[in-house]
Amino acid sequence: MTTRTLLVEDDAMLAEALTTTLLRDGADLTVVSDAAAAKFSLLDHAFEIVLLDLGLPDGSGLDVLRFLRARCDITPVIIMTARDRLSDRIAGLDAGADDYLVKPFQVTELLARMRAVTRRSKGRVAPSMSWGNLTLLPTSHLALVNGKEVQLSVHEFRTLQALMARNGHPVSRDALEQEVYGMSGAIGSNTVAVYVHQLRRKVGSERIETVHGFGYRLGAES
Ligand code: CA
Repeated sequence: MTTRTLLVEDDAMLAEALTTTLLRDGADLTVVSDAAAAKFSLLDHAFEIVLLDLGLPDGSGLDVLRFLRARCDITPVIIMTARDRLSDRIAGLDAGADDYLVKPFQVTELLARMRAVTRRSKGRVAPSMSWGNLTLLPTSHLALVNGKEVQLSVHEFRTLQALMARNGHPVSRDALEQEVYGMSGAIGSNTVAVYVHQLRRKVGSERIETVHGFGYRLGAES
């Protein structure tokens, strides 16, 4: 069975060794070596499991994990790290990791843990995000306005998801563009504004406020 797997590891030798093993095991594998690329990949693809190194050149893998969970993404995550301090393990599990593997480890153990967490994750119900009378269902790309279903396009959905992940705090236009487009490219100067416009028509104009010269935020919770 092919498992869509994201490997986040900046140690080139380890990444290569794991790549060989995972491909042999039948994984559909994406490999990235820093936190920024990991976030982009997670925006662009639906993975079944993420193998996450904590010490990355541009930050901590924990930031990647928090980014994922803030978006109500419940993809299973196994942290792989040389740090074996108890506090690091607790931080990882608190941030929403499913399992924790201390380097160096045997690849057979990694494969066994991967099977265990993907098995456990089957049939899990994705949480929803709520703001006032607005609810977003991440797995179905549906929004509920006062309990009534509103269908969103992929880009409209991502725009609203990025806003809801901030709980009413403003998000800059640049950050919004990155989260809406991921790595799929082509960013026009007005495009996020277009999605915001469409969203306002669908969910109510008062629900998305313009922060002049900066970006957008959710309107006051009602
Ligand atoms: Ca590392």
